[in-house]
Amino acid sequence: MDLKNLYREVILDHNKNPRNTGALPPPALIAQGHNPLCGDQLIISCKVHDDRLDEVRFEGTGCAISTASASLMTEAVKGKTVAEIEDLYNAVHHLLTHAQSEAPAALGKLAALSGVAEYPARVKCATLAWHTLRQALSGENSTIKTE
Ligand code: ZN
Repeated sequence: MDLKNLYREVILDHNKNPRNTGALPPPALIAQGHNPLCGDQLIISCKVHDDRLDEVRFEGTGCAISTASASLMTEAVKGKTVAEIEDLYNAVHHLLTHAQSEAPAALGKLAALSGVAEYPARVKCATLAWHTLRQALSGENSTIKTE
């Protein structure tokens, strides 16, 4: 199986069987994200303890890319510190906005999103979960829009 097919399988799997779905009860940090270009809507709730992300969940409706990206993100960020999450976000953002760039090993399964870079209109679908998580971590419960 070549890399592109492997990546496609990962996206399909996480879209069909998204991980860490649902909502955490209060006093979780919560933020809503909306991508008007595609209609993707996400709510992310998370719990931080000693600067580390203990729990993270997402719910919402969106296209395959936004759902798979949110699912992959929750797996990748769980247990990480806020600073480590910021580093991961920067690496993912670079991957999504630079076609043909090679995914650093640290990205793990998030590398499956690399193909999105070839479809600039879909980048906001893939980054919505990250923007929403960062908003939740900022402690301001509110709605963010990608536009
Ligand atoms: Zn979308």
